[in-house]
Amino acid sequence: MIKILHMYGDMLDLYGDSGNMEILRYRCRMRDIPCTVDSYSLGADMPDFSSYDLIYIGGGADLEQQHISADLLRCREGIKAAYENGTFLFLICGGYQLMGKYYRDADGNDIPGLGLFDYYTVAPSSRKMRCISNIAIRTSITGKPVEVVGFENHGGQTQDVKTPLGEVLFGNGNCSKSQYEGYMEKNVIATYMHGPCLSKNPELSDYMISYCLSRNGGSGELQPLDDTLEKQCRQVMLDRLLNK
Ligand code: GLN
Repeated sequence: MIKILHMYGDMLDLYGDSGNMEILRYRCRMRDIPCTVDSYSLGADMPDFSSYDLIYIGGGADLEQQHISADLLRCREGIKAAYENGTFLFLICGGYQLMGKYYRDADGNDIPGLGLFDYYTVAPSSRKMRCISNIAIRTSITGKPVEVVGFENHGGQTQDVKTPLGEVLFGNGNCSKSQYEGYMEKNVIATYMHGPCLSKNPELSDYMISYCLSRNGGSGELQPLDDTLEKQCRQVMLDRLLNK
């Protein structure tokens, strides 16, 4: 059984980020692994964060990030305790930024982060200077190097990332034309990749599912699925981006 909490899905849902939840659910269903996804957003009762195996937050525009900021801060202690207790944090773009120290938007407003991690993010004052691109990275979070593709659109430049998710093969990553993308720990995947991110990158989904199962005392071993289509889609993008 895997219990997922999807936070602010009605506000932070760029480029189909909510699709990541469909994909996790689908990959569990295909293996007869029970999986529930609860939603939380503004005005709802405070959830018991530690009762979840995975907490997910998608990306959004500066305005949406401002709108949820006070509420997210209210959840800080609960999310922090859950993370320290081994709950997996899966964070896309705006969600990624808000787990760091702060996000300074293009108008110079500081949106405080939860400060779970040391990085911070600053957007240039010109709204034209955004990192907008298809993106390909190589990550080793799953134990062996795998290429991952997605789409990025962010003004924020994220600095002081100690353990990036991967190296950039094409696109920008944490900063304009940077070498590295995202942030990771054993129980954290934070990335600028929309797409939704998991649609062409089944290894990331399975890493999280396996993590959640082993956390609950299972072996974490997963029955393989037929990922031919997903991998073909990824290969099309890799060929296009890297001329492989
Ligand atoms: N508003 C943030 C930025 O522009 C995050 C954008 C996003 O989630 N794609 O950097």
